[in-house]
Amino acid sequence: METVWMCGFKCGFNSNEEETVKNHQNFEHGLKCKICKFATLDFEVLERHMINLHNKPLTSNCKICNEAIDGLDEFDKHLQYTHGTNHWDLNLASKDIKRKLKDMEDEVN
Ligand SMILES: [Zn+2]
Ligand SMILES: [Zn+2]
Ligand SMILES: [Zn+2]
Repeated sequence: METVWMCGFKCGFNSNEEETVKNHQNFEHGLKCKICKFATLDFEVLERHMINLHNKPLTSNCKICNEAIDGLDEFDKHLQYTHGTNHWDLNLASKDIKRKLKDMEDEVN
């Protein structure tokens, strides 16, 4: 019997190849590089990708004032000093993605 891999985000996507599902998850539910076709579920991986491949930091738009900020650390500082918050939407989204993935792994095991 063939193993069917389900998308961990419960969108109904499935495949008998784990790699296909992983790619689907990256592209449909993850974060995309604005320059090339790279996609990942992990902000830190995306930041490294930007620096290593494109030689520029990941630019994020502040959801409060819409300013574009280079680099995750700078973004964190911007939120903290400009808006007095470290309640970082993107960070939360990243944690949410990781939590969902973990749920999926738990189900498999
Ligand atoms: Zn999916
Ligand atoms: Zn790229
Ligand atoms: Zn701002």
